[in-house]
Amino acid sequence: MAIDLDRIRSRYESFDDYKIEHLALNEAKNLRPEVVEILKSEISKRGMSSVLLEGINIQLRKITQAEVDRWISAIRRLKCPRCGLQHQPLTGGMIRRVTSYILFTSTLNRPVILCENCLNKKRTDAAFSTLLFGWWGFPMGLINTPISLIRSLRDRNRTTQLDQEILTALVVQNRGVIIAANDNPNKLQHLIDSFNRSI
Ligand SMILES: [Zn+2]
Repeated sequence: MAIDLDRIRSRYESFDDYKIEHLALNEAKNLRPEVVEILKSEISKRGMSSVLLEGINIQLRKITQAEVDRWISAIRRLKCPRCGLQHQPLTGGMIRRVTSYILFTSTLNRPVILCENCLNKKRTDAAFSTLLFGWWGFPMGLINTPISLIRSLRDRNRTTQLDQEILTALVVQNRGVIIAANDNPNKLQHLIDSFNRSI
């Protein structure tokens, strides 16, 4: 065990600051307590910002509903990552799309956070695309196209619940990054942009 920890300590010593910051703000919740201590002492040794320690601590303690609500409100006030406007609060929703290439079918079910206009447009585009290009892959296109369209319709009946689930999952998963952002809209914006990137 001691050898194991020594090895981790020297690995952390070899990481550049960016990697240490990433570990502190994103991965601390998955680390063993003794490894967290190694990470904290590496941060102190390098004289890195104490905000990283706050980012670690928020991942290790129980968070309150009030904190989750506050973080969600901060996210809602950001600019829409697609249209760049700030005219509507950001909303979470699912994009579902099936695309077939005769023998190969790809199925996408992915949460996004956008303004309501952009979310509606994205969902409608995905449904049209599924109708046009989903069904002609055999057999999965034929099977997955109606499933995807039915799920999209169901999503429309539970938009509030989906929105809350998606935003809660985002802020809980990224609480280290959010605390370190300290309500800085640019840093929060970066988080949302990355969340939507693969769409
Ligand atoms: Zn928008």
